[in-house]
Amino acid sequence: MQTSDIYHTQGIRSFKLKSTHYGDGKCVLNIVAKEHRCPLCASGKVSVYPEREREIQGQSCGAKRVYFKVWVHRIYCHKCRRQSYEQLNFLPYSKARVTRSLAQTLIELRRHMPLSAISEHYHVDYDTLKALEVNYLERKYSRICLKDVRVIGVDEIHVGHEWVDGIRRQKYLTIVRDLNSGKVLFVGDGKGCDYRICPEHQPAGLGQALLPCHAIRRRPPGRFYGHRGL
Ligand SMILES: [Zn+2]
Repeated sequence: MQTSDIYHTQGIRSFKLKSTHYGDGKCVLNIVAKEHRCPLCASGKVSVYPEREREIQGQSCGAKRVYFKVWVHRIYCHKCRRQSYEQLNFLPYSKARVTRSLAQTLIELRRHMPLSAISEHYHVDYDTLKALEVNYLERKYSRICLKDVRVIGVDEIHVGHEWVDGIRRQKYLTIVRDLNSGKVLFVGDGKGCDYRICPEHQPAGLGQALLPCHAIRRRPPGRFYGHRGL
């Protein structure tokens, strides 16, 4: 395998292949960064110090599982005189144990297979898969378009118990949904947020219009209304 191969098959750029080892059904590729720059000011006038070696799983090549070994460096910038750590640009997030390319494949398979089956087939740890999925969902739903939302509904669901100052309490989540499309717009802690009555714009046939204060603060007043108990 060559440097161009890891770019075209694994989506890894800015790194060059140093050596390759085969064994135990694995293909281990040692890669190094082509250059180091300060992640804060992008200056090339830096000193680098190796900190620790990481092993990252990539897309399989035939019957061989592919792993990348790469040293993560501590970077001192002579221009801005600040210290930082090297960021691996081929990871979906900084602590991920698989490449962005493999993570995308695993997320796509999630629609068709349970996590346990993906974990067994790809030899990826179950907790790693869960972390990948959580990261994907957080990014996907971090920004929700509220442009066409006209009617919202608020409800609370029971999600178990929690201990607060030695007292066992019921735990709830507040769910805010778009009544027209059914999409979930907001999920937050239940029981404890103040509800506010919205007498204006109350839809006909629905109960008392209630909104949690934190939901109201995020939206323009007077444009949204909802009811409790969907
Ligand atoms: Zn700098």
